[in-house]
Amino acid sequence: MEQKRVVETFIELVKIDSESKNEGPFQAFLKEKFERLGLEVFEDQTKKQTGLGANNLLCRLAKTKGGVRPLFFSCHVDTVSPGIGIEPIIKDNILYSNGETILAADDKAGIAIMLELIQRIQEENIPHGELEFVLSPGEEIGLVGANAFDCTLLNSEIGFVLDNGGPVGSITVASPTLMGLDVKIKGKTAHAGLEPEKGVSAIELASIAIAKMKLGRIDSETTANIGTINGGIASNIVADEVKVTAEARSISHEACMKQVEEMIAAFKDTAAAMGGSVTISQDKKSTGYRLTPEHTTVKLATKALQKIDCPVNYDVSGGGSDANIFNSKGKEVANLSIGYEKIHTLEEYLPIEELEKAVELAVQLVKEVE
Ligand SMILES: [Zn+2]
Repeated sequence: MEQKRVVETFIELVKIDSESKNEGPFQAFLKEKFERLGLEVFEDQTKKQTGLGANNLLCRLAKTKGGVRPLFFSCHVDTVSPGIGIEPIIKDNILYSNGETILAADDKAGIAIMLELIQRIQEENIPHGELEFVLSPGEEIGLVGANAFDCTLLNSEIGFVLDNGGPVGSITVASPTLMGLDVKIKGKTAHAGLEPEKGVSAIELASIAIAKMKLGRIDSETTANIGTINGGIASNIVADEVKVTAEARSISHEACMKQVEEMIAAFKDTAAAMGGSVTISQDKKSTGYRLTPEHTTVKLATKALQKIDCPVNYDVSGGGSDANIFNSKGKEVANLSIGYEKIHTLEEYLPIEELEKAVELAVQLVKEVE
């Protein structure tokens, strides 16, 4: 059966392996592909610093009409595991993997949409302002590529990340700041039966500190969790070391940082009171953003969705995407749903109808941008 070009493109893309840190061959393939379509492709030199398999690519399509602000689209080129040897199959107009790997619609559906958009613009002579396309490696392992990307290279002030699951129509207008905490608590070992008073139990210290904390749902936008706790050697030894991992997240960056501060204070104060010590390393996994209906990107996406008769849904995400990075670097960027489901699993799938709808949305965004 003859397939639509965007489906053929998608299949071509997922057949090239690009698990995180091994994006090199796929990124080289994309570089050539965008160049062949007539775009100017710039490759940054961030791979030395990031340790990823590829640099970021910034591809530019020159404008064909004036008076329109530049617009960018961004997708990530890496995939999670198992992503080697993907063999897509089509059943009832839905794309699946063969069950042994992910499908990698996250985020190769987005890249297929970009490539289809460019070809549609060219074939239909759609007048457009400058369009920029960012292809980032290492997204799945902590937004690493986008984080290293120099956003001042972009002429666009606004953009869309094409990397959210669920039916087309959702605009991710808010996403949390996510902080990870690695806590190492030191006590003092002693025999638990002979001389417990000479010891400082790291386990007791951790327990008291954790009991002081507000955890779970803090408010409508903020949550906190102790994820793991490991320590101790035997029941007759006062444990001298415990390792705790924890997180806090909030749509409000300030609320997240306040929660983190309180958790750190609980550990430090308890350690001081009990004669133990604590070392804490904080890892900011993403910086939150919040867009309102008044923001240009939200207005633009809403208008474009309405024009293609697609119901609009404003979504608050629980996790981060490259949109978090772009927003934290001063760009205004929303993440758009492009139809894939069950990401990061062997059951990941993509309805072809959704893929086609996402292409229509991208074309409409280009037509509507002012
Ligand atoms: Zn993704």
